[in-house]
Amino acid sequence: MKRAPVTPNLYQLTRISFVNAYLVREDDGFTLIDTTIPGAADDLIAAARDAGAPITRIALTHGHGDHVGSLDALKQRLGDSVPVLMPELDARIHVGEQVVDGKVRGSWPKITTVPDVRLQPGERIGSLEVVASPGHTPGHVSFLDTRDRTLIAGDTFTSYGSVAVSSHFYWRFPLATMATWDKARNLESARVLRALEPALLVVGHGPAIRAPRADMDRAIARVAR
Ligand SMILES: [Zn+2]
Repeated sequence: MKRAPVTPNLYQLTRISFVNAYLVREDDGFTLIDTTIPGAADDLIAAARDAGAPITRIALTHGHGDHVGSLDALKQRLGDSVPVLMPELDARIHVGEQVVDGKVRGSWPKITTVPDVRLQPGERIGSLEVVASPGHTPGHVSFLDTRDRTLIAGDTFTSYGSVAVSSHFYWRFPLATMATWDKARNLESARVLRALEPALLVVGHGPAIRAPRADMDRAIARVAR
């Protein structure tokens, strides 16, 4: 697992160079955003320890397998004192509820962890504001760090090669598009996230993008065309 500092408050953790998780520094330790694929729990815990603080909570952008893959193992190792926060609709999908018409796409592996909190847009998690960004999945959320306007956008955008909205089939990373539930809604969410005027964009798949507004505009224009 590669651990790269992005800002004084943010580390990017990359598993097999295609899927990212993030450590967000708070006064009481790190918020881990997403958990990557199965088998990463020990590496994620070690990455936090090496960065100087424990993981004190786990928040998820959405319920896909490459984001919740190590959740059960992490919960087992970290115990009940570390709460798990998952977007409401994706948590309901995980327990087998039919929350939308039709089929949700992408991988929804069996998980045993019951989230301690079902996230609602507008909630705060330490310095992070929860922003609704449905489309890639029904419940997908993003997190805006109110200290420096870092936007953790999950799979609403990807950033391989260039920033792309995951509604748009992009040869550098087609998986995110194939897994997107509602492309029109995802595009709408991309616009909402752009309007937040982020200073830094980080995503589930691809490198961090500083001053990302022009890149986000181009990506949105490409899909809207
Ligand atoms: Zn996804």
